[in-house]
Amino acid sequence: MDHKCRGCGAALSDVMVDLGPQPLANSYVIPQNAHRGELFIPLTVYVCALCKLVQLHHEVPPSDIFSEYAYQSSWSDSWVEHARRYVDLATERLGLNEGSKVVEIASNDGYLLQWFVRKGIPVLGIEPAANIAAIAEERGIPSRVEFFERAVGRQVREESGPADLMVANNVLAHVHELHDFVGGFTELLAPNGRATIEFPHLLKLMEQVEFDTIYHEHFSYLSLLALEPVFAAEGLSVVDVDELSTHGGTLRVWLAHTGSAPESPNVERIRQAEAAAGLGDLATYTQFGATVAAHKREILRHLIDLVESGKRVAAYGARRILLGASFHAPSNSAERERAEDLLLRSDDSGAVGAAARAHGVRYLVVTPALLAGKGLELEQIEARRHLRRVHLTGRPGAEFVAIYEITS
Ligand SMILES: [Zn+2]
Repeated sequence: MDHKCRGCGAALSDVMVDLGPQPLANSYVIPQNAHRGELFIPLTVYVCALCKLVQLHHEVPPSDIFSEYAYQSSWSDSWVEHARRYVDLATERLGLNEGSKVVEIASNDGYLLQWFVRKGIPVLGIEPAANIAAIAEERGIPSRVEFFERAVGRQVREESGPADLMVANNVLAHVHELHDFVGGFTELLAPNGRATIEFPHLLKLMEQVEFDTIYHEHFSYLSLLALEPVFAAEGLSVVDVDELSTHGGTLRVWLAHTGSAPESPNVERIRQAEAAAGLGDLATYTQFGATVAAHKREILRHLIDLVESGKRVAAYGARRILLGASFHAPSNSAERERAEDLLLRSDDSGAVGAAARAHGVRYLVVTPALLAGKGLELEQIEARRHLRRVHLTGRPGAEFVAIYEITS
């Protein structure tokens, strides 16, 4: 395959680790379909030999389109507290006040911007999921329903002026068009403004062999080394870095327009730490695959030993339930079943809309297993007036995943 690096455009040929075909991390097989198997998609992590950006290049899985839609950031108390502390820090560091403007990308339900609002600091959220943005609006947080990109940054600036602070937490790794996304910051950021971007640090992933954090929705695995050229190409520079413990080790980079602010010694310290760990050398990445394989063999050996010595092995896992006609209220399976049936069978768009809103669901994922379980044909789903197909992977008649937007 001839993939191009989404950082520098070079041809990608070096594999950092090949985890083989894997099911989508957030997919959920309902118990009655457990015997039918599920869709597996290759999970191969490439590293760019030139800029060292670590990235996936697979057929876009459906979860990418809507995974964030069913999740509200406010459900995590520790994350809301993280946001509150950040807001205090940023307000003080940048001297923000009633005359400032803060814009958050992927602002979700307002978990973060609410703390600026309480300080009387004007905010705007940009959030692609309409149902989640509506919750933010109800809380008094102005929100635009949009995917962020260069053109959106330009438009927001024209309509409501530049931003003194822009925030993007745990969104950069999910972005396909890295330059177009970062370019939106360049457009919207005030001349002396700051942007902060938080992302899981690749250095920690590699040091702690956190290969379980590699999944289909997570397109890039980020280091300062690989990101600085992307920022530079868009006229932005990293002027400070905070190291955080969230998500197994996170970097928060502070960005400014190039030449507008001095650089903190923290930036060089992280550059040096990455260099010392060998992130500048291609071999460091390609050896990672061997480390992962060694872990796999060790675990298998251990399991085999346990079984042969007569021990029993139990497994426990917790997965977010987002895919399928599944809802994030799994505790009430009867209610979920009723909503599933309504979404799949009903032609009453009002009732469907009410059910979808009640469950915070905007998309319906249809697989052959689901249809078989309900005794339905894909043609029947296609005919529903309240469902608009937005994605199809595979072929109807064979293995496929179709995604429908609930339009009522
Ligand atoms: Zn590259």
